[in-house]
Parts: sequence; C-alpha cells; structure tokens
Amino acid sequence: MTSFKVDSKNVQYTDDAIISTYVYQDTRVSKKDGQLIVKPIEETYNFKTETKVPKLGIMLIGWGGNNGTTTTAGILANRHKLTWQTRTGTQSSNYFGSVTQASTLKIGVDENGQDVFIPFHEILPMVNPDDIVVGGWDISSVNMGDAMRRAKVLEPDLQNQLYEEMSKMKPLPAPYYPSFIAANQKDRADNVLKGSKQDNLDEIRKHIRDFKKDNELDKVVVLWTANTERYADILKGVNDNADNLLNAVKNNHEEVSPSTIFALASILEKTPFINGSPQNTLVPGVIDLAIRENVYIGGDDFKSGQTKMKSVMVDFLVNAGIKPVSITSYNHLGNNDGRNLSSPAQFRSKEISKSSVVDDMVDSNKILYKEGEHPDHVIVIKYTPAVGDSKRALDEYQSEIFMGGRNTISMHNVCEDSLLAAPIIIDLCILTELMTRITWKKPEDSEFKRFHSVLSVLSYLLKAPVVPEGTPVINALSKQRKCMENIFRACVGLPPQNDMMLESKAF
Ligand code: NAD
Repeated sequence: MTSFKVDSKNVQYTDDAIISTYVYQDTRVSKKDGQLIVKPIEETYNFKTETKVPKLGIMLIGWGGNNGTTTTAGILANRHKLTWQTRTGTQSSNYFGSVTQASTLKIGVDENGQDVFIPFHEILPMVNPDDIVVGGWDISSVNMGDAMRRAKVLEPDLQNQLYEEMSKMKPLPAPYYPSFIAANQKDRADNVLKGSKQDNLDEIRKHIRDFKKDNELDKVVVLWTANTERYADILKGVNDNADNLLNAVKNNHEEVSPSTIFALASILEKTPFINGSPQNTLVPGVIDLAIRENVYIGGDDFKSGQTKMKSVMVDFLVNAGIKPVSITSYNHLGNNDGRNLSSPAQFRSKEISKSSVVDDMVDSNKILYKEGEHPDHVIVIKYTPAVGDSKRALDEYQSEIFMGGRNTISMHNVCEDSLLAAPIIIDLCILTELMTRITWKKPEDSEFKRFHSVLSVLSYLLKAPVVPEGTPVINALSKQRKCMENIFRACVGLPPQNDMMLESKAF
C-alpha cells in the first residue's frame, strides 16, 4: 500500500487494487473559415492498479558490460546497505539519478498553504529495487566480479566488498552476429550461442523461463544494454510484420539482429522488453508481434546525459521565445561503448538517435521557425581510451535573440556514463513492471484493458522514444515527466499537477 490515502468518492481501495474514476479534460481543435475552433472535452476513465508488488527479476543483455555490472553492483550495494571509503570520506549506497527512488512529487498543499511532497515511488505501489533479482546474457564469458573490475567505474573499496558475490554470477551465452556490432568487439565474444537464429531464439526463451523458475519470480523484464548495433534494413517480406519476421528467423535471414532475436524471445515469453541502445531493434515486425501478444515493449536508447540536457535546454529556449539556430555536440569517451561507437555503422545508429531530439520543440513554434526550418544540429563522438567511462560532452547552443542578436551557450559536462545509465535501467524496469499492473476502461466498458503495447510513458528515460504509430513523439523532458506523473496521479484519482497556486494568489 502507499503511504497516503486519497479521501474521495472517485477512489476505491480494495484488498488487491486501487480503482479510480478520472475525468480527463483536454481540448479538440478544428479549423473553420481560417480560424481555430477550440472545444474543451471531458472523458471519463476508470483505472485499476493491482497493489500486490511482485517478486521481479530483470535480465540484462550485455550484463557483463559497464552498465550491466554497475546496475548489478548498485542494487547489491543498496540491498546490503554497504558503505565504502573514497578519497573524500565514507560513501554510502543510494539511488541518486533514479526518478522513482530519488525524486519527489507534490501530493498537495497542507492547511498552512505549504506544499507536501512524497517520494515518487510512493504514488503507486512499486517494486523496491533492493529486491530485484538480476541476471542476463553477455557474449563475453567473464564473471560479473571481474567484469565489474574490467569496467573501472566503481570505487575499489566497493568493488572489493562486492567481488566475491558478483564473481559467482556468470552471464548466459548470447547470439553474436558479427555484422551487427563493431569488428573491434570480436575478441570479447567467447560466450556465444551456437546454431541457427531459430535455435538461438528458442534457447533464449528457455533462459527466460528457467530464470523465472529458478529464482521463483512472479515477473521478468528483459532489457538490452549490450553494444550498439548497426541499423537493420527494413525489408518487405522480412521484418515488416510479425509473421514475416518469425519466418525470417526460421530462414536464418541475415538482417535479423541479435537484439531483435532477444525482443522476439521476450515477447513470445510474454515478458516486457526494453531497448536501451539506439539501433532499430523494434522493427515493424517486433512491434506487430508485441501488439498481437499484448506484451509491453519500450525504446530506444537511454536518455542519460547530453541528450537529457538538450531536451531541457531547447525546451527552455524555444519556450522563452529564443531561437536556437545551431546545436553542436561533441562527445569523447573511453569505455568499451566508445570503442564500439568508433565504427561508422554503429556511430550512425547513435547519430540518428541523438538527432531528432529537438524536433517536437522546434515544430511547436511557428513564430520562430518557418515550415521545414530547423536548427543546424551536428553530433560528433570520438573514442579516447584515457578518459575511460568518464564521458565528456561539449555542447554549443547558438541562438538568435532580440533584433537579430546572437546568444551562445557553451557547456562542458563530465560524468561517469554508467553511473548515469544504471539508475535509468532500474527506473525503466520498475516502471515497466508497474505498467503491467495498471489497466483502464471507459465506464460503459465491462472489462479493464492494458495500454498500447508500445510504452511511450517511458519517454522520459529514453533518447529516441518509440511511440504507437501515428502518435506524436514528445522529447521535452518536463512534458515527459509530467506525463508519467499525471498518469500515476490519475490512477489514484488525483487531478494533473497544477502549478497555478491560486490559493496563494487569490487574496
Ligand atoms: P559496454 O560495451 O561496456 O557493454 C556492452 C556489453 O554488451 C559488453 O559486455 C558486450 O560483451 C556485450 N554484448 C555485445 N553484443 C552482445 C550480444 N549480442 N548479446 C549479449 N551481450 C552482448 O557498454 P555500456 O557502456 O555498458 O553501454 C551499453 C549500451 O548502452 C551501449 O549500446 C550504449 O550506447 C548504450 N547507452 C549507454 C548510455 C550511458 O549513459 N552509459 C546511454 C545511452 C545508451
């Protein structure tokens, strides 16, 4: 149960669910005689959230990589409440950077007119990350203890405390199709599934079933945090719908990527699948199958550093009536991800994922931008081994201001990449699991149903959000957060977050 109770006729608490009635207020716009006609609408929805929190397991693909080891170590360190010595003193475990665990939301105003906040994860019952069982696959056979050391992300004292437990964890073998990741990853690939693509798919399905059974889990979420692959070509008759894609697997077609094999295996096991890398794992055939099997999928590419900043900065500039005319972003990083991205086809996947991030904000303002006009947007990524996981992001935003003036904002961001990504991985899994317990209906419907299989509610955490076909992509960070927050508020019968604060202005 949550730490608060909503006292309203619109909310009903049963033994195993919270059921709310929510009036969705919006507007519909049409055009008549050159004028926009705006009509307020009201639609009533019922939401039902199952309150029993399951025992959750997550299976990470690329488990032995920097993100995989850092996520696992972070969860174990928090579970064991570890502290460790650093140059600057004693550090204790936390979930900083996780929106569910370390951010708050305003639940209302008290009798003194003061805002009251609760931890984000208390808005609805959510899995506690300390209780998550972690497993996964890697084409590298190195055990998780040594993989954590290889990653060089965490402090040595913490690594030493976790080494024994993590060295007993061994990644499962995974499919390795060399054309999809950079040639420079070849030496790592010593834990590879043999056989055809169909054999690989069947084996991965078995891995998921066994993991669930062996750990006595109620639910599993599968998440790709392995190397960035090249884009798969979208081919008619191959990956354009579910049946063609399943046939293409049977025929061992070369355009079926390892990540797509994982997505298919998860969906067929009724297990949600999230893609944390930029490539087009979620080809039309995968989306089609997810819809057919009624399984949640989400993607693409964790929104961790530079892009998160961009989706704040451009939102701010455009909403302030300032016109960004060029955005130039340089990255250099020295971890294995950077090494893989030094190969052109894999860099191209990242470039595509990073480049559409300002589109919705630019398109929203026809005063600043004429039809089809767009800021110049340049993205450069260079591999610099010596900086390791500590990624550098240098960005320059040049904008046109009042009366033709220019404003240039330059940023230099330095951060351990995997320490940004790990809490995002945890959030993605917790929120995806939560979404499997929320259903909705119109009052006149008899049955509650699930949301669309493409989980666009995860957009806050993803650089290039995949959304249901024909629906708008939202990149602006504040809108993405509001979307999540307001949907969860609706599930407990609360109105959307309202910043008018009329009670403190209406004197
Ligand atoms: P990493 O290279 O340290 O780890 C990737 C792991 O994937 C490696 O251990 C590799 O052996 C394994 N692997 C490769 N192909 C595989 C396959 N077919 N099956 C199973 N395992 C496979 O990289 P990382 O720093 O952990 O990043 C992982 C991914 O997350 C990258 O694609 C990166 O672009 C993406 N990403 C990271 C961030 C961030 O902030 N760290 C942000 C956005 C996206």
